[in-house]
Parts: sequence; C-alpha cells; structure tokens
Amino acid sequence: MNLLRVGEFDADAETDVLVVGAGAAGLTAALSAHAMGVETLLLERDDTPTGSTSLSSGLVPAAGTRFQHALGIDDDGETFFADIIAKNGDQTDAARARRLAEVSAEAVEFLADAADVPFSVVEGFTYPGHSVLRMHGTPQRTGAELMGHLLPATERAAIPLVTSACVVTLAANGAGRILGVEVERPDGGRERIACQALILACGGFGANAGRVRAHIPSMTEALYFGHPGHRGDAVAWGEALGARLADLAGHQGHGSVAHPHGILITWAAMSEGGIQVNHDGIRFADESHGYSEHAAAVLAQPGGEAIAIFDARIAGIARQFEDFRNAEALGAVRVAADAAAIASLFALPEAALSETLAEVDALAVRGGRDAFGRTFSPRQRLTPPYLAVRVTGALFHTQGGLDTDPDARVLGADLRPLPNLFAAGGAARGVSGPHADGYLSGNGLLSAVGLGRIAGLAAGKRA
Ligand SMILES: Cc1cc2nc3c(=O)[nH]c(=O)nc-3n(C[C@H](O)[C@H](O)[C@H](O)COP(=O)(O)OP(=O)(O)OC[C@H]3O[C@@H](n4cnc5c(N)ncnc54)[C@H](O)[C@@H]3O)c2cc1C
Repeated sequence: MNLLRVGEFDADAETDVLVVGAGAAGLTAALSAHAMGVETLLLERDDTPTGSTSLSSGLVPAAGTRFQHALGIDDDGETFFADIIAKNGDQTDAARARRLAEVSAEAVEFLADAADVPFSVVEGFTYPGHSVLRMHGTPQRTGAELMGHLLPATERAAIPLVTSACVVTLAANGAGRILGVEVERPDGGRERIACQALILACGGFGANAGRVRAHIPSMTEALYFGHPGHRGDAVAWGEALGARLADLAGHQGHGSVAHPHGILITWAAMSEGGIQVNHDGIRFADESHGYSEHAAAVLAQPGGEAIAIFDARIAGIARQFEDFRNAEALGAVRVAADAAAIASLFALPEAALSETLAEVDALAVRGGRDAFGRTFSPRQRLTPPYLAVRVTGALFHTQGGLDTDPDARVLGADLRPLPNLFAAGGAARGVSGPHADGYLSGNGLLSAVGLGRIAGLAAGKRA
C-alpha cells in the first residue's frame, strides 16, 4: 500500500465522497452520504462484494430502537454505553463509545428504512455483557442476508459501485489532505479517482499473518475466520500518513467454531448452560464470560480444541441460527445419551467426564458458583440426551486500527483530525480496548454500521 505525497493530483474521474470497501461499513457510509444529496462512489477489490460482513451472523447491537419498543424492551444509549465500558474495563475512548452507543438506534433504523433491512430483535437469550435484548438481525440471522439488502439498496439509489477495483495508493498533499486514490484492476491497469473526502472502510488486518503475529501474538496459531481482504491496508496507509493507530491488540476471537467443519456454533450454547471440556474431560475456563476471550483459552488446550456439551433445550435456541442448522446437517453436532456415549464419540476419559458432568449438575441444582467464578442456575440444568461438538478457537476480526474522533475523522499523531479522511468498521479503532476480553458481542458491526453512518454523514458534510 503506497502513499503519494503530491501538490496536485491528475485524475481520470472525480467524486465528492469516495468510499473504499463495500462491506457493512462502506455501504452504510455510502447510503448515508448519498441520502444527503452528495455524489458518492464505492470501490471494492472483489468482483462480488461479500467482506467479513457476509461471513458474520449479521447481528447489530442497537439501543432504543423501534424494534425493541415493539417488544416492550426498555433500553437507551446510556445503558448500552455502560455495558460497552463495563466489558472493556474502561479501556477505550469514552467519547467515541458513547457516540456509537447513542447513534446505534438511528443507524439501524436508517438501514431498515433506506435499505429495507427486515431487522428483528434476537430473543431467547441475552449475549454476555448486554444488560437487555438489543441484537438486531435479519430473519436468517446471517450477514450474507444483511448484505443481500444493503447491496440492492445502493443499486436502487444509483450509487456507483466499482468492483474488481483494489485501491493501492492514496495521494495526499503536504497538509495531509487526501486528493484521491489509485486503483489497480485485475489486468494490472491503473485508474486515478480524485475526491473531496475519503472514507476507509476496507477492514482490519486479520488476514495479514505478519501483523497478527506482531500485534496479537496469542492468535498467531488461530484459524482466521474472516475475509481475506482484511490485509491491513488502512493501517498501512495510517502509518504512512502519520495517523494515530490505537488498540492494535484488540480483537474478536471466538471459542466455538466446529472443528474441522469450520462452522460457527452460537455462543448461546454456552451462555444458556452448556460447558466445554478438554481432551482430559475437564473444564478449563468460565464459559459464561464471552466467546472472544474464550478463543485463547481453547487454543491453549491440548490440540487447540475442546468439546462443547449442551442439551436439546439449548439446541432449540441455537437453531434460530442458520450456521447451527448447517453444523447439524453436516454431522458436526453429535447426540449422546450420557457421559459414556460422549466419551466414546470423542475419545475422552469416561470417568473424568462423568465427574465433570456430575459436578456441573450439582452446581446447577443448587445455583452454585464454580472455581472459575461461573454461576450456574437451576433453569439452565443440562438434561440428557446431550449434544456435543468438537470446537476450536478462531480469530474473527481485529478491533484496533485508525483512531478517530467521535465524528469518525481520522486523527493524526498529535490527536488533531486529518482534513478529509474518515474511517469506519474494521479499518477504524473499535470500542473494545486493547484485549480480547474487551469485546462485547456486536462491537464489530456496531463499528461498521454506527461509524459507517457517522462517517457517511460527516464526509458528506465535509464534501
Ligand atoms: C464468522 C464471523 C462472525 C461475525 N459475527 C459478528 C456478529 O454477529 N456481530 C458483529 O457485530 N460482528 C460480527 N463479526 C465481525 C463483523 O463481521 C465485522 O466487524 C464487520 O463485518 C466489519 O465490516 P467492514 O465493512 O469493516 O468489513 P468487511 O465487511 O470485510 O468489508 C470490507 C471490504 O473492503 C474490501 N477491501 C479491502 N481492502 C480493499 C482495497 N485496498 N480496495 C478496495 N476494497 C478493499 C474488502 O474486499 C471487503 O469487501 C463477525 C466476523 C466473522 C468473521
């Protein structure tokens, strides 16, 4: 990724707002800027935009939406902000986190209206760290379905989307003002596009093994589960521009990916009462904390894997997710009458596993707390037959990146915003702080949709 320092920029085309990357962040930003009547152009390296957004469950947390109101759920930005801060241990920029929490409802409702996204609130279980039900998803609970609404909406709005257009160079003047970009086509051809404002929505650096090793050593051996386009382009341009980078160690891991099938097993399987054991048939961590920090715990077990165990009640909740239904269809989820059957299916020591399950049952019956600090409840008591899946830990996406002010303007090293550069989604610093355990479920799409909305409006105003 290059940076061209020039006084003037000869371009083949020009636009007011230029958006790099057509995932949830870029599409939300483009729809927002366009709705202000500002000329907007999207550039996407792939021939068909999918991004990590398509790989995700597409669940966007938002507080105080009309969808929540319809269900009688009482929520607001301040409550959401408090949940974000509690999860990251107050290790993020509070002003940005508050702004994102506050804009979340407006952003989700904007997409529902402008892109006809049929959002509904996920019911049945509360994600760890959220004090109320506030995850909004499409009927199938998939990011591909979310993209299936965002992309046609940009088409209806006649926002030009140029695909197979990989941005390789930013051009900036001496004052750090972005003049335009250079795009490389699959045949090696190059084109230059000038702009009044640039929004980087081209993802994080999860697909860049060297950067992961340098910034998130605990995930060096982890399966990367996100989109290959997350090569760290935004971070590289930020370095060249002298922009401020923050929380580069922050990330979303996941401690429950069916192995070797590579399918996400919803964390509801754990938060509703399920457990994980290692090859010795014993538990190794508090599964109720969060799926992100659990990735490293699973990877630290022999073979880097664990067996997730739950029951039919929990599977009933999990089946609202297409991923879980796919995992069942592919035979990743095994049914076992008792501890002996699980032990035989996964080559675990039967005595140790029986003891683990008996201990968990006793804790559930009396609502007890275990040595890891997890509290079990009678409501969540596991009932045979069990369901069990072999899982591993994965890196889903990085949460560190270009630091921005609350208006999504990229900050320089001196904490002053660069003149016309904005960042959203994986390209920008999230609100999870510098550790995996700071990731509150949904922080990824919150940064994409929330910052995308803010960046689109601010860039539109700037242009
Ligand atoms: C399996 C999985 C499940 C997840 N589930 C959730 C969830 O339920 N809720 C949640 O909040 N988050 C979730 N996440 C995280 C979430 O998917 C991401 O945080 C979010 O999609 C990021 O959006 P984005 O627009 O920044 O990136 P993307 O959707 O990846 O879009 C970035 C786009 O930029 C393009 N691009 C990159 N470089 C260039 C370049 N140089 N020129 C042109 N184009 C470029 C890429 O090709 C890509 O299309 C999940 C992630 C994974 C992997």
